[in-house]
Order: sequence, then C-alpha cells, then structure tokens
Amino acid sequence: MAIERTLTIIKPDAAGASHIGEIITELERAGFHILAMRKMHLSRAQAEGFYAVHRDRPFFESLVTFMTEGEIVPMALERENAISALRELMGPTNASEAPAGTIRGKFGTSIERNAIHGSDAPETAAVELAFFFSRLELDR
Ligand code: ATP
Ligand code: MG
Repeated sequence: MAIERTLTIIKPDAAGASHIGEIITELERAGFHILAMRKMHLSRAQAEGFYAVHRDRPFFESLVTFMTEGEIVPMALERENAISALRELMGPTNASEAPAGTIRGKFGTSIERNAIHGSDAPETAAVELAFFFSRLELDR
C-alpha cells in the first residue's frame, strides 16, 4: 500500500441538503487529508466532459441534469490506499442499497442521487484531479 490521491465530489443533492460539513467530517475521521477544495456550479458542458465515459449510457442526460442542478464541492484527497478506501467509505452506487454506515447510505437517496463521487482507479484519479485542480493547487 502507498499514499495515494483521489478526487471526490460532494454532489448537488448532498450539498443542497446542507450535508457538506458532515461529509467532510466523515472523510477527515477516516484519515483523508484535504489537499485542495472548491465550491462551484458545473455548466452542462463541464458535467458532460467530466462524465464523458458514460455518454452512451441511458442515464447520461439525467446524470448531467442532476450534476448541474446546484453547487458541488470537489476535493483532492490524500491517504494511504485512498482510492479503494474512499470507495469503501462511500458505499455502492445505488444509495438505496448502501449500508447505513456508508456516506451514500447516510446521505444518498437513489442510484442517481447518491451524494458523493469517488475516482475508481489511479488513472481516472489523475485525470479527474487535473479536471478540477491546477498543479499550483496540487504540487506539495
Ligand atoms: P461515481 O463515478 O459518481 O463515483 P460510481 O462509480 O459508483 O459513481 P458510475 O457507474 O461511475 O458509478 O456512475 C456514475 C454516476 O451515474 C453514479 O454515481 C450515479 O449518480 C449515476 N448512475 C449510475 N448508474 C445509474 C443508473 N442506472 N441510473 C441512474 N443514474 C445512474
Ligand atoms: Mg464512477
């Protein structure tokens, strides 16, 4: 295991329901260090670009509408084994099936409105971190 970086996003459902602080507390309690953080509202083109890998899926248009409905909080996180540790803390994609102890179990409501994003592999983490943050913000 090694120290890794990953990209998380508090999605518009959780940010809009004032759960930003609680989710950050869960991340910090789980040992994640916040390297960089921002609060922003994605344009449709930006959301389409971020989720481009899903553009042929039937849920793509709805996903882009959801991700642009309000403000989001992207964060660059660092921890031992950060990518898989975050995915475990988040819980499964379908929040209605997520264990109660997971972030999606606590703050998500459906397969789409699932409160939080986490990168799924080192390659996607690198691309996603660079999507939201500059080298100036990430170089340590
Ligand atoms: P994320 O990439 O946001 O961390 P994930 O890796 O668990 O989530 P993906 O398969 O990458 O899941 O899907 C990206 C997002 O698209 C999901 O988090 C969810 O918001 C939405 N989504 C996925 N599958 C569906 C579906 N069947 N119906 C509606 N929305 C979906
Ligand atoms: Mg994914």
